[in-house]
Amino acid sequence: MGIATGLADARVALEIERAKAGDRRRRLVGIYLGVGAVVSLGYAVVFASTSEPFHRYVAVVGAVTAVVQVFGIGMVSRGHVTGAGILSQAAPVLSVLVFASATSVHAGFGSLLFVGALGVVVTVPDEAARARFVLIFALVSAVIVIQVFFTRSRAWSPLSESQTAEISTANRTIMTVALFVLALALNRAARLAKQLGDQALQVAHLAAQTDPLTGLANRRPVWARLDALEAQHESFSVAIADLDNFKVLNDKYGHDCGDETLIYIAGLLEANMRDGDLVARWGGEEFVIVLPNTAIDEAAQVTDRLRESIANALPACARAAHPVTISLGVASGLGGEEPESVLRRADDALYQAKLGGRNAVVAVRD
Ligand code: GH3
Ligand code: MG
Ligand code: MG
Repeated sequence: MGIATGLADARVALEIERAKAGDRRRRLVGIYLGVGAVVSLGYAVVFASTSEPFHRYVAVVGAVTAVVQVFGIGMVSRGHVTGAGILSQAAPVLSVLVFASATSVHAGFGSLLFVGALGVVVTVPDEAARARFVLIFALVSAVIVIQVFFTRSRAWSPLSESQTAEISTANRTIMTVALFVLALALNRAARLAKQLGDQALQVAHLAAQTDPLTGLANRRPVWARLDALEAQHESFSVAIADLDNFKVLNDKYGHDCGDETLIYIAGLLEANMRDGDLVARWGGEEFVIVLPNTAIDEAAQVTDRLRESIANALPACARAAHPVTISLGVASGLGGEEPESVLRRADDALYQAKLGGRNAVVAVRD
């Protein structure tokens, strides 16, 4: 598999993971709003069923909050995930303030807002950093207001002592379960974010080794391969291939046609390489082929087959009018020889091939 194919695969895999991450957030926001709606509605029912007349108003606030949360679920399904995430945190603040001011701090409604401290991170994306900050600030402020101002004596629609104790227990239980579930969700999100980061790094790593025009390897993997061969004292051959009279094609058919030809030739080179060989764009209209564990005679045969496979190739833009050929210079390095000097000899051989009339392979024997 060539570097280019690896890069394309890595990019596709990254896109798939990103899409999955988007789906996960959508699901989480939907679930958060759904659970919020159930809790709001639950309290609307609880307050509506008491005998205290003012509780009807409190129940209405709970019911309205549930409707807003259901509306948020609709937003999620229409793809407005950031807006829905913000709504999932903002909607409970007002109703919790109303519940708490009616029933006092002792009923424990403030506990429900603690959930938002983690909830904001789960449902509001990093990109909406300001919204996150504002929401956290609002949640903290609401909790402080409840603690400081909503004393028992100020409650405008107090519950009985036993009702207060029951609702306080319910609120603290909801808070505890929600915090644990959110901690698990955050733990998973952090793991997946790291995985996504690693994948993005892999894409960047492959992109740094790839020639953007042809998708072949660029010089970096060539040097890495040659250095490894030198370090392991392995013998190898290198070929430098250069398109013949490429300037004429460029001048006659334009730079775009030149680019198309380079892509076309790169494809032919890669398709005709043996497994384990490395073909790279060296620069301009030159390519390098590294043939590990290949003696010069075999390298000459392999590269001549390449030359033949390209000879008179016809890129569509040149419309049969300008057949393309390549010339190649080949040299081999015995175990441990410096790659630079082998490349220099291959370049000299290429020069000979050009002098000899082009569309030829010249292999220098040591
Ligand atoms: P020779 O057979 O001696 O190699 O002749 P040549 O015309 O191929 O070589 P020369 O060095 O005179 O010209 C190379 C041309 O390759 C000139 C340059 O504009 C063109 N070239 C280099 N890189 C690119 C590229 O990325 N795209 C295009 N379209 N042309 C390029
Ligand atoms: Mg050249
Ligand atoms: Mg050339």
